Amino acid sequence: MQRTVYLNGEYLPESEAKVSIFDRGFLFADAIYEVTAVVDGKLLDLEGHIARLARSCKELAMKNPLTAEDLVTIQKKLITLNDLKEGGIYLQVTRGSSGDRDFPYPDNTEPTVVLFTQSRAVIDSPKAKKGIKIISTPDLRWRRRDVKTTSLLAACMAKQAAMSVGCDDAWLIEDGFVTEGGSSNAYIITQNNTIVTRPLSNDILHGITRASLLKVAEKHNLSIEERVFTIEEAYAAKEAFISSASTFIWPVISIDDRPIGDGVPGPVASQLREIYIEFAKALSV
Ligand code: PLP
Repeated sequence: MQRTVYLNGEYLPESEAKVSIFDRGFLFADAIYEVTAVVDGKLLDLEGHIARLARSCKELAMKNPLTAEDLVTIQKKLITLNDLKEGGIYLQVTRGSSGDRDFPYPDNTEPTVVLFTQSRAVIDSPKAKKGIKIISTPDLRWRRRDVKTTSLLAACMAKQAAMSVGCDDAWLIEDGFVTEGGSSNAYIITQNNTIVTRPLSNDILHGITRASLLKVAEKHNLSIEERVFTIEEAYAAKEAFISSASTFIWPVISIDDRPIGDGVPGPVASQLREIYIEFAKALSV
């Protein structure tokens, strides 16, 4: 069945939604995106995703074509039109098309705005129960990972490298330290039960799930340290896990073929997943 998608003010069957070959999103990855989770037909952590979209636009001097109200209206309408119960909404804004290919930002192009729904089980996800196996691999991405651009080839390469050896995802390494996952933030839990994750900077995406998760962890009096960590420290951790809007929290059960803890999902990661989902659902719109 065809989805109804949103393109530049119109709701269209997906086969009829067309974008110019001169669109700068296509030619230069001059585009930003957001993924917002949907549970029970409602949007999770919406405020955070809307705020990060505005920040990404600002950092790239790109016109933000939609107000927060527009974004809520469009996303809600897509949920209804596609009868989406659980999954996510993908949103992309590009700098638009000047009708040719040239590097400098063109004057007066209208942004291209695309949104579509993706239906999938996010609550009863098998990987949340079984955990995931990851590899470590060099971080080949650009230096502004805090901006959520569609320039994702390095992440695709890292994930493909993981898949090719029977693993699920990759953690990226720079200067000896873990930056983050291929499309997630990375955490370890030390032997003395401290949750460790890399501090915010231009080196990582400022995860919206990360922000909510740290808030709920603090409320539950869990000990948190925002600092860099090495892959060797991760090998020796009691537990490890990732967070993102597409996964919420997934436990990591092995890294580079070394089991983490007992090699099964750890109790703290599983508890964090539950309390995060409860928190996010309570605030969903
Ligand atoms: N880090 C990277 C590189 C990502 O691509 C993502 C999500 O796509 C995240 C972290 C997690 O961010 P969020 O929790 O906002 O989904």
